[in-house]
Amino acid sequence: MRGVAMAEAVVATLLGAMAGSFANVAIHRLPRQESLVAPRSRCPHCGHPIRARDNIPVLSFLWLRGRCRDCGRPISWRYPLVEALTALLFLAAWWWFGRSLGALRAGIFALIMVIVIFVDLDHRIIPNAVTYPGLIIGLLFALAGGPRTLLLSVGAAVGAGLLFLVIAVASRGGMGGGDIKLAAVMGAFLGWPVVAAALFISFTLGGLVGLALLATGRRRRKDPVPFGPFLAAGGLAALFWGQLLVQWYMKWPLHGV
Ligand SMILES: [Zn+2]
Repeated sequence: MRGVAMAEAVVATLLGAMAGSFANVAIHRLPRQESLVAPRSRCPHCGHPIRARDNIPVLSFLWLRGRCRDCGRPISWRYPLVEALTALLFLAAWWWFGRSLGALRAGIFALIMVIVIFVDLDHRIIPNAVTYPGLIIGLLFALAGGPRTLLLSVGAAVGAGLLFLVIAVASRGGMGGGDIKLAAVMGAFLGWPVVAAALFISFTLGGLVGLALLATGRRRRKDPVPFGPFLAAGGLAALFWGQLLVQWYMKWPLHGV
């Protein structure tokens, strides 16, 4: 790897780690309707504000050996995991899309999906504070791509949203308003036809995990499983491989039969 490329990879990873740190704050505070900017993060056990030097993504967790400097109680491994995951996704966005507006778009989309996955797992909700700005940002990126991109983006957002509205009505509470809005956000960012690949991956993943949970007796048929994490995971997979999946599908000999 040449020097410039190496430097860009490092910058992308560092930006991703910082975005991951922000994701941790958002995951904790958005469901509680707290401000994202103030006050400073505190230890959930002793309430002591976290010092700047103990707030370095991933590294502080390792340096502190997973314990609060003040009370010595354990810090959740989820924090460094979210930071490392987001850092990796930003690196992948740079790797995939180069130094471009597309990479920025991919990074922001990945950040939104990471926040959705963990908030929905924790609280069974997808906050409007994530989906509304997400929808606007996705459409703005599409606008920057020109009229055709914008049209495919708006169409995909409306189409995906309507599909989930129908599913929500048909499933009588199995899917919620949050899933409808999340599907629209994915449509806005990914556009048509990549959003179709995203939804296909989401349903496949959700079906497989659902079957596995039933088979192992971890869940009964009536227990609700949040679908947001599957949608978001499908969105992340399609961000990188959706175009390939669509091309592969179009070449499939039985396509359209
Ligand atoms: Zn503490």
